[in-house]
Amino acid sequence: MNPPALTLVDARVVTPEGVLDRGWVAIEAGRFAAVGSGTPPAAARTADLDGAWLLPGFVDLHMHGGGGHDATASPEDLDGAVAFHHTHGTTSTLVSLVTAPVPDLLTQLGWVAVRTGVTGAGARVLGSHLEGPFLSHVRCGAQNPEHLREPDPALLQELARAARGTLRVVTIAPELPGALELIAAARAAGIVAALGHSDATYAQGRAGIAAGASLATHLCNGMRPFHHREPGLIGASLTAGIACELINDGSHIHPAAATLIARTGAPLVLVTDAIDATGVGDGTFVLGGQQVQVRDGLARLTRTGSLAGSTLTMDEAVRRAVRDSGWSVAQAAAAAATHPARVLGLDSRLGAIAPGLLADAVVLDDDLRPAAVMSEGSWTRVTEGLLQLE
Ligand SMILES: [Zn+2]
Repeated sequence: MNPPALTLVDARVVTPEGVLDRGWVAIEAGRFAAVGSGTPPAAARTADLDGAWLLPGFVDLHMHGGGGHDATASPEDLDGAVAFHHTHGTTSTLVSLVTAPVPDLLTQLGWVAVRTGVTGAGARVLGSHLEGPFLSHVRCGAQNPEHLREPDPALLQELARAARGTLRVVTIAPELPGALELIAAARAAGIVAALGHSDATYAQGRAGIAAGASLATHLCNGMRPFHHREPGLIGASLTAGIACELINDGSHIHPAAATLIARTGAPLVLVTDAIDATGVGDGTFVLGGQQVQVRDGLARLTRTGSLAGSTLTMDEAVRRAVRDSGWSVAQAAAAAATHPARVLGLDSRLGAIAPGLLADAVVLDDDLRPAAVMSEGSWTRVTEGLLQLE
């Protein structure tokens, strides 16, 4: 059942071509039908956004949990985590699986497969992201080293089979033996190969990209630091111009580094890498079977002190990019929606406010805080008193 046609008026509409002041957006059958500025066409049903920002709904490529739910703990927790992030503007998300024993991964991939593509209130699950097990021991971060594996095409095939076509991204350390073949195999199977949790040199990084990798997993984190004589995977990713994830929480990456990286012109992708503790507050949690301590919003492994995912939400990543790193709202919207949709090859379906695309959108106030969220033309979250319907 499609929601009735609706025209949003008087918004600062962020489109791929730029921001339309006093913009309007006509929505029909759950999709954007027309976009313009100035006097809107006559419509039976309108919502006046009173000058608020209208951005495409956020697409999170890296999410482990939120709202007290580890998305891989059970199907119910998966739904809970997705619903939590929806309140922060996420309208599409991958579910990220940390390195774990293979039988656990097979089960979790099956849960995500069941939930993928099911429409309902809340964010749309686009599939799963395997963060491991083909990662480097040297840069495993919060990934449990006990369960890391060498690149193994047969194992990837087994995992993909359990996901029934919903495995979308796999993170691989390109310097491991057999990694380049695995990257090529992933790509041939329609799975995005991402580079990360890797000690790769610049040359090893470029080899991974030449083999077909098209995404860097949380750039700068879980990889050798940039050095002017050995720029490593950071240098390889930025010079090759592949999509690069950023955990823009002010801790995983310094605001100035986010400024600098944006100036390279690389297609950046804001991700949360959020864990169950997100939105809950400080305390003790578990990630991939390991104890995590959250203090002042920073999650660290109790055992090693390594950063263990984040407590970030997509709206905060956008706010920080604009407020602390000098990105334009349009740049932030591209990184939060358009670029991630393109990474998955879904940009003709979603990820921008343009005619023909699914009407997923976030209304942000002047401080870039979510005032309302729309999925496929239906309001799914509205702050009271915001919208004047009809
Ligand atoms: Zn992660």
